[in-house]
Amino acid sequence: MQSESPKPPIRWLVLAVLGLPMLVVVTIVPWYGINYGYDLYEWAWFLALLTFCEMSITAGYHRLWSHKAYKAHPVLKFIFALGGACALQNDCITWASDHRRHHLYVDDNEKDPYSAGKGFWYSHFEWMIRDYESTREDTSNVEDLMADPVLVWQRKYYLPLLLIMNFGLPVILGVIHGDIWGSLLLAGFLRLVVSQHFTYLINSAAHIWGSRAYDPSQTARDNWFISLFTFGEGYHNYHHTFAWDYRNGIKWYHWDPTKWLIKACSWIGLTSKLRQCSAYRQELTRLQVQYNKALEKCEKVIDSPSWQEKLEFEYKQLVETLNHWSELKQQWYQAKSEQLSTDWQEKFPELEAESLRQRYRLLKIELEGKRKSWQALLHTFTTLPAQSTQTV
Ligand SMILES: [Zn+2]
Ligand SMILES: [Zn+2]
Repeated sequence: MQSESPKPPIRWLVLAVLGLPMLVVVTIVPWYGINYGYDLYEWAWFLALLTFCEMSITAGYHRLWSHKAYKAHPVLKFIFALGGACALQNDCITWASDHRRHHLYVDDNEKDPYSAGKGFWYSHFEWMIRDYESTREDTSNVEDLMADPVLVWQRKYYLPLLLIMNFGLPVILGVIHGDIWGSLLLAGFLRLVVSQHFTYLINSAAHIWGSRAYDPSQTARDNWFISLFTFGEGYHNYHHTFAWDYRNGIKWYHWDPTKWLIKACSWIGLTSKLRQCSAYRQELTRLQVQYNKALEKCEKVIDSPSWQEKLEFEYKQLVETLNHWSELKQQWYQAKSEQLSTDWQEKFPELEAESLRQRYRLLKIELEGKRKSWQALLHTFTTLPAQSTQTV
């Protein structure tokens, strides 16, 4: 058995900065609550600042700066920079540099700063408190961010900013309310620790539990439950596949408050150029994954060649219809946007008898039918091994 190399030394300053608030949270916070109690004002500020910190990380540090999924007004950038300092997750330039390396080298234990391959504890917390080679600062991949005046300012004044946001603000809230300790403990310490660990879950839990519909070759997973605590970042397999999409939860019902915030800000001009992956490309990616998985299963069942043939036939049919539907959809949208209703026949002379719109609708129905038969076939495959696995 290969012996494990010794762990690098502990970064005592980082451990103290992250660990002491945790100590306060498990000792003084409950003690104060039992003896003096917390009121609605303090809990409301706990929630408000928790949301502020989390969203500054998810919408700001992550989707805006690390992935350039949209553009933001300097006012919004400034707010995110303050929230990021409040979250105490390092300055944005360092954070984004680590995160870009995480995407580039995901699951590479030597190069991914918080590689899930090294276990839950490592990816959740340990990567920050030990001097691992992969976690040393290297800002060569964030030169674009070094030119952002808001981030340069945040990096320069990071220490005073974090003190103001984590101590000054809760103390001011306490002075207004007449209970400095209550506010400091809830809106300060408890909020800080909870928001940090919610974010850490994305590096740990979202790389361990959940589904991988877009890229099964890596550990990132889609998990709606983790999204509840991470303001939408739980759809992590999708995110690792299409990192430039401003959404992580792509369906309207996916719990992704970060995408709703970014979208809502676009209505008042605070955000613009929101990038998103087309539904067509998403579906094609999912289908490819399903097809490959089913092919693997095919090899284990009786009459494998005929099942493979059937699978390939259905897959090709569905992809072909999907391609056709997507082309037609583009034509239709283009025609609509150009408002060519008057010279419609001229632009699409082959569609004299039936309008493009009608064809589009018919194809949509056909596509629905093919999707259903594809799903039915996949379902059949889930039952096949139990019924007809080749046993010796
Ligand atoms: Zn990840
Ligand atoms: Zn990311």
